[in-house]
Amino acid sequence: MLRIVLLGAPGTGKGTQSEKLVAEYGVPQVSTGDLLRQAVADRSELGLQAKSAMDAGELVSDDIVIGMIRERLEQSDTANGFILDGFPRSQTQAGALDELLAEVERPLQRVVHLQVDDEEIVGRLMARGRADDTEQTIRNRLQVFRRQTEPLVEYYEQQGLLRTVVGVGDIDDIHERIKAALA
Ligand code: AMP
Repeated sequence: MLRIVLLGAPGTGKGTQSEKLVAEYGVPQVSTGDLLRQAVADRSELGLQAKSAMDAGELVSDDIVIGMIRERLEQSDTANGFILDGFPRSQTQAGALDELLAEVERPLQRVVHLQVDDEEIVGRLMARGRADDTEQTIRNRLQVFRRQTEPLVEYYEQQGLLRTVVGVGDIDDIHERIKAALA
């Protein structure tokens, strides 16, 4: 049973570390970024609505992502837990998540905050080269993170759920640090 959030700016390794946690704990990774990219690829109505915000590095509307998460967490593969990657990203999303999990009596157990310096992040994302990884969009995504998502660090700290892990160095070492933070 593992119900956790990986919190961190873009490029801090949430996706990479989620994959390792999936292998370790056997619970699915739930990434709103992946779900949104799939919706765009499928040319669904929701994908069309989300695309311009994604291209600009802005947040997609809370309604859209909360709806997606609600549906995803209703699927049976999340019964033993989940690793949330890239959600929540705003206070509204965090509140909605708490409500949703309270309804089913499956509250969050931990929030792992992956910490990496901005310049390291920009370097990593430029090297990754996804369509929304231009320098300008990256800088905007970082600003959006600072403004809208970083306040959640405090929010989860107050709930006693937060553990901060330095996300720099060897991928396996970071994984070990995360495991220690979850123990
Ligand atoms: P990611 O793969 O997590 O970097 O997400 C890619 C893009 O999808 C972000 O830059 C946002 O435009 C959008 N996105 C992903 N997750 C969320 C979320 N929880 N809230 C709002 N927008 C999101």
